Amino acid sequence: MARYIGPVCRLCRTEQLKLMLKGGRCKSDKCPINRKRAAPGKDPKARLGKRSDYGTQLREKQKLKRIYGMQEKQFRLFFEKAVRMPGITGENLFALLERRLDNVVYRMRFATSRSQARQLVLHGHVQVNGKRVSIPSSIVKAEDEIGIAEGGKKMVVIKDALKEFTKSGIMPWLSLDPDAMKGKFLSSPKRGEITDLKDIKEQMIIELYSK
Ligand code: SF4
Repeated sequence: MARYIGPVCRLCRTEQLKLMLKGGRCKSDKCPINRKRAAPGKDPKARLGKRSDYGTQLREKQKLKRIYGMQEKQFRLFFEKAVRMPGITGENLFALLERRLDNVVYRMRFATSRSQARQLVLHGHVQVNGKRVSIPSSIVKAEDEIGIAEGGKKMVVIKDALKEFTKSGIMPWLSLDPDAMKGKFLSSPKRGEITDLKDIKEQMIIELYSK
């Protein structure tokens, strides 16, 4: 499946939102959004000017899709799965996205970005319940144990990422033993618990896909 390989900060500048795609740099002064860099293109003001309803809904979907590093087809499949689940579609969508294995690896601080987490999974450094799983979009379940495989425990990138844990803690639906490099996905998060994505308006995504 084709993936975006261009400069990722450009994506944040397009949305004028920190999508947190570059690990440590996202929290530093080097982040173009922190430095208030304009949207890309020849006429950034026009680009950010008044948008149609469709344009606003489209941008909201693009933000969420890019945050989780997904392609359109896969994102749409997640959405359709969320629609079929009992309960509120927007909440279901977030719960499913948060249950992606690459996302859980990122949230457990084994990686500083979701793309780095994806690489760790693809290269076989991640185990679920003691078994190697190399599919980043695998969906984890409540009480699944996620850990780093023996070979990955010496990797500097993982150790450095885990240092972040002591600084900023971990999301409430996860537990982590940083010394053992493993943790648990306790339960699917409620929408209100995903505080770093509180500004995403999932209702607009639902409206977009309902057309
Ligand atoms: Fe986005 Fe991170 Fe680049 Fe900032 S540093 S623009 S948050 S990817």
